[in-house]
This record gives sequence, structure tokens and C-alpha cells, in this order.
Amino acid sequence: MTLVAIDLGTTNSLISVFTESGPELIPNALGDVLTPSAVGLSDKGDIIVGQAAKNRLVSHPKKTFARFKRFMGTNRDFKLGRKTYRAEDLSAMVLQSLKSDAEAYLGHEVTRAIISVPAYFNDVQRKATYAAGKIAGLKVERLINEPTAAALAYGLNSEEDENTFIVIDLGGGTFDVSILEIFDGIMEVRSSAGDAFLGGEDFTEAIVREFARQLGGPVFETLSPAALGLLRDLADKAKIELSQKEEVGVKFTHGNEQVELKLSRQTFEEISEPLIKKLRMPVQRAISDADLRAENIDRVILVGGATRMPIVRAHMTRLLKLFPEHKIDPDHVVALGAAVQAGLVDRHEALEDVVMTDVCPFTLGTEVTTEIRPGHYQSGLFQPIIERNTVIPVSRVVRNSTVVKGQTEVILRIYQGEAPRVKDNVLLGEIKIDVPKNMLEHEEIDIRFTYDVSGVLEVLVTTISTDRTERLILEGNPGSLSLDEINKRFKQLEKLKVHPRDKAENLAIISRLERAYENQLGDMRHFINQKLSEFQLILDGQKETDIENARKELSEWLEQIERTDIF
Ligand code: AMP
Repeated sequence: MTLVAIDLGTTNSLISVFTESGPELIPNALGDVLTPSAVGLSDKGDIIVGQAAKNRLVSHPKKTFARFKRFMGTNRDFKLGRKTYRAEDLSAMVLQSLKSDAEAYLGHEVTRAIISVPAYFNDVQRKATYAAGKIAGLKVERLINEPTAAALAYGLNSEEDENTFIVIDLGGGTFDVSILEIFDGIMEVRSSAGDAFLGGEDFTEAIVREFARQLGGPVFETLSPAALGLLRDLADKAKIELSQKEEVGVKFTHGNEQVELKLSRQTFEEISEPLIKKLRMPVQRAISDADLRAENIDRVILVGGATRMPIVRAHMTRLLKLFPEHKIDPDHVVALGAAVQAGLVDRHEALEDVVMTDVCPFTLGTEVTTEIRPGHYQSGLFQPIIERNTVIPVSRVVRNSTVVKGQTEVILRIYQGEAPRVKDNVLLGEIKIDVPKNMLEHEEIDIRFTYDVSGVLEVLVTTISTDRTERLILEGNPGSLSLDEINKRFKQLEKLKVHPRDKAENLAIISRLERAYENQLGDMRHFINQKLSEFQLILDGQKETDIENARKELSEWLEQIERTDIF
């Protein structure tokens, strides 16, 4: 059974396979390899995924969701029609759509997958990604860090010499920096750092605020969600245009007026300054965590659509004193590399010799109480056991003792984070250990943490005097779904009516017409409505060739209109 690879992105997702001729991207029903990570509800109550859903973000903002990757593993609810979903469910719908694209392409069922995640994802977010896979009916064989996948796509694993690379990944919503080293045919992630709340969309938001300023007044309160969605759409287009041009203008319908909004590259650079500043810290941290200096880096690899921005490239060149590489499309590189990893997992001959290691991207430890003076205790301190950027799989043990003589139990709390006090870190779980009542001495316990390549943590606690061991089951994690809940959600998703794959192109055209309607006035709106009715008539006629021709014609017509939105 084919093992597929999935790049489940904040903005776009891709699915790929490893074939005899190397990694290959699989197109969706619209023929695109990029499927927007957007989910919505059609007017008939079907679930729609991808481009059509993305188009409807503007025209049906209450019935459409995007950018939910940021909320993986949280209790945040997304209401779609009468049902409420979590980010895992919405991600599962994207995964299911990709799964059916792969099935149509490969001609057989797909049940096994590798999914890429930001290196910065914590334990809860990784578990949520596993859960999303299961809800979509996929067995997630393992998770791969996105920068590691990118390095594989660049074939860095087959470099002959000893080399050090930095992978800079600025996607829609996340920023990841990783340092990789190749040595004796072994590729090792030396360190990784990042910011889970920084991405290309923050640059788009900066433009939205600039456009709002140009529109004058408090537009955020006065604009309808649909109009605001449209403004965001235009801001994103303007940002992309600015990667090629010095100045860009957009036409926005504000009330009953078409307003021209303008943005120069210089203004864009000024308003992006705070974001550009935020890019620096993770780069510096990754370098210092790897015990390196910028001069030790041999190559810079760019990943993620937002690294196309000239200001980002210029900033990285200045910071690293090296020109970044972008030979492979930054939107495809993770999915291509994940497919190489799929080939590796399936022990494809061509990749037999590659050895790869990974790191734990954050520090894992426990809460401790220490006696600062006789009889005076300080609790709530963090004791790191596995330090961030330790090569995994890893197993570490520490010996602790009870705080007071005669105590009969120890509550051990497991945390993840970089702060010295546990209250500032993330609680992963807790375990109660019974210790024999010992009035003479402190009882000793060994705490063993084992962290594997898929980001799963096992905690074993052994009481030395009794040799009894307890194992931690991290099920009660805040925000994590239990196995029962995952199974329940899998059954619910199976029952949902999903818009048929073979009708996806029609829906995409309709949603594009509706989106164009939003940004037009008067006669043009009338004209678009007429086109919509005509297309509906052709659809009702059910003649495939007529439908296909109409779609092609409408698509060309829409391209012309969409082009006039931006100048
Ligand atoms: P990803 O999550 O890697 O697909 O990244 C998508 C992000 O990259 C979005 O915020 C896009 O607006 C942005 N992006 C894509 N192409 C460009 C471009 N040519 N210039 C600037 N930003 C871009």
C-alpha cells in the first residue's frame, strides 16, 4: 500500500508520493498541486474543501474557515452550520480531500501517510496532528519536521563533504528556522527555533491596516465581515505583486464607491519593520543553540511562500552574509521532501544509505521543590530533563528525592518550555507515585524521559527502595482528544456529506463568480448575476461537454475581471 506524504500547511496543503523517478506532487480535482487549507459549508449543506472554500471566505465568511492550523490541540470551537468542530476536525477534512485526490491519481485506496509539522510544534500540537490523520481515516506512520523535509528535497542528505545548512521557512502562519549538518553521510538537525505566530499573513495584516488608514476612519468596525475579507484578499494580492513590482494599486468597493488604494515597496518595508525584526531572534537562537556562528553556515535554504518577499530575502542575506537558495519552489519543497522521507520509510532502494536524525525542539522536564534554607521550601521550579535541541530518539534519567521525610506520595508534573518557573511553561500531564513511609531518610526516585522520533514522550518513574516503576500516560492533556473521542469524530466525519470531488471545478467557478460580485458595483453586478444563472442552467442540463466549455469561458472572463482589481 502506497505511503503518501502530506504537507498540512496553514495556508495551503499538498500531497505527494515517492515514485521510481523521485518525489512527485499529486494534483487535486482542479488540477492544482496546492489545495488551500480552507473548509466551508455549501448552500446545500455539503462540506467543501480547498479553492472553492477559500473563494467563499469573502462571500460567505460565516460558513468558511481557514488558518485553523494555529489552533491545533486547543479547545477552540469552529461553528459550521449547526455543528461545532475543532481544528483537528477541519484539518481532517483537508486531509480527507487530499486522500481522495491521491486515490483518484494512484487508482487505489490510500490509508498510510507521513505528515509534516513545524519543528516548533509542541507535544499537544503533534498529537492533534496524529488525531486529525486518524479522523480522516489515515494511519499516520510518522511526523516529519518541515525543515527536515526541505533539506531532503534539496538532496542535502547526499552531500559528500561536511556541511552546515540553515533552513528558513516562512509560511502563511509559522516561522521555522533549523540548522542541519551533514557529516559522513549522516544528516543531523542541530537545532531549531521559531515563532508559531509569525507568517506571511501577518504581512498581509500590516497591509490591511495600511489600507484601512488610507480609507480613513475606523473601518474595522464599519466594514462587513465580507468586505473586510475582500480587503484582506486584495492586500494579499498586493503583497504578492510587490515581490515583483515597486508599486501596486488595488480597486476596493467601499460603500457605493470604488476606491483606489496604493502601496509602494518602500511603504510596505516601513510597515513591515516590526515583523522583519521578529525574524531575527529565532535565527540567532538557532545558530547559538547549535554552538555556531553565522560564518559557519555554508548554505541557506528558503521554504514557504512568504520567503519570496524581497525584504525577507534581503534581511536574511544581511543577517547570514550568504545569498539564500530557492531553486525549488518554496511552496513545494516540504511536500517533495516529505515524499523522499516516505520513500525512506518504505525502504526504497535509492535511499537505503541515508541516515537521519532529528531533535526535540523544546525542553521537557518536571516541577521540583527545593529546600532553600533548612525548613524553607520553594516550589514551582522547572527541572529540565531533555534540553531543547537534543538529538532524538533520546532517553535521559535524573534522580530526585522526596522533599520531606515520611511523605508517602509524590505528584510529579511534566512540563514543556523554556521558562525557569513551571507556571510559565506548558503542563503536559502528571503522575502520582506512592513511596514507602520513611521517617529516617528521603526516598529516592529515578525519572526517565524517553522522547522518540515522532515526538511522543514516555515517562517512567522508579522508586529506588522498592524497585517499583510507574509509567505516565499523557491522555489527560489539556486540549488533546482521547482515543474514544477521535474514533467518535472519525465516524461523524464519515457520515458528513462532502461535496462530490467531480463537481469541485463547478463549485470553484461559482464561488469565484460570487467573489467577483463582492468587489463590483452596478451593471457589472447585474452581469455577474446573469452569468451565474446561465451557468446554473447549463449545470442543470447535465451535458458534460457544455459544462466544460462554459467553465472554460467563465474562467477566462473572470481572469480579465480579476486582473482589473489590481494594477
Ligand atoms: P505557505 O504556507 O508556505 O503556502 O505560504 C503562504 C504565504 O506566502 C501566504 O501568506 C502568501 O501570501 C505568501 N506568498 C506566496 N507567494 C508570495 C509572493 N510571491 N510574495 C510574497 N508573499 C507570497
